[in-house]
Amino acid sequence: MKLKGKTAVITGSNSGIGLGIAEELAKLGANVVLNSFTDNEGDHELAKNISAETGTKAIYIQADMSKADQCRALVEKAAEALGQVDILVNNAGIQHVEAIGTFPPEKWDAIIAINLSSAFHTAAIAVPMMRKQGWGRVVNIASAHGLTASPFKSAYVAAKHGIVGLSKVVALETAEDPITCNAVCPGYVLTPLVEAQIPDTMKEYDMDRETVIRDVLLERQPSKEFATTEQMGGVVAFLCSDAAAQITGTTLSVDGGWTAL
Ligand code: NAD
Repeated sequence: MKLKGKTAVITGSNSGIGLGIAEELAKLGANVVLNSFTDNEGDHELAKNISAETGTKAIYIQADMSKADQCRALVEKAAEALGQVDILVNNAGIQHVEAIGTFPPEKWDAIIAINLSSAFHTAAIAVPMMRKQGWGRVVNIASAHGLTASPFKSAYVAAKHGIVGLSKVVALETAEDPITCNAVCPGYVLTPLVEAQIPDTMKEYDMDRETVIRDVLLERQPSKEFATTEQMGGVVAFLCSDAAAQITGTTLSVDGGWTAL
């Protein structure tokens, strides 16, 4: 098991990409900490299921990534519970789509806090731990919108460009340590959130499912295929591998050719 003995904290991991990453890292032997802002039976059940399926330790820690102190406490609590934090995956994220003139300032603040500032706060606690332990991986889940823009997504595009920049800084500050920091930039990934948009979009455009996926959702994704949460897990696992030890301060696009256009 390639990641046996390592502990990974994945923010925003009770669904979608974060859960896919946690499952993949656990399959490779890592102990994993799941997180979101909720604290219900289902959240803890997800961790129990991962433990049962992989034989690794998996726990759920509630922490709201819009709050600086809770971001920091998440990493501290994870280290207390599982002994250390070797892998930090900053994945929590939200979206709001609206023109700049009417974009609600509170949505701007929430997106910048959850999608960008949380990664600063978690890394501020995790990086010194990794340095002490002599190994670490920070993987920030950015987006194709960390490299390109779309109208009506001001806060999201700003936060995702910001996390690409933050990844470069952390990489430079840890360049002489056995620590790497990179940003993964997915195009569209088929998560429950994206799946849920399909029926409404079918109605709105009077199109069938295949046409909505091809011509609306995947308009900018030349492969015309979604990436999967399993593939996202595999990409993060690769960045945690020895093969990726010299990959730091860069972006890895998983976007079916979007950014080649
Ligand atoms: P999702 O809604 O399924 O996952 C978001 C996760 O963040 C959930 O677990 C949610 O509970 C958590 N979260 C939200 N607010 C939080 C808070 N305040 N504190 C803690 N956790 C919080 O969506 P997803 O598609 O899996 O997105 C995961 C990440 O991937 C996001 O950063 C998103 O921007 C990025 N991304 C997604 C896509 C895509 O097509 N799905 C594409 C590019 C980038």
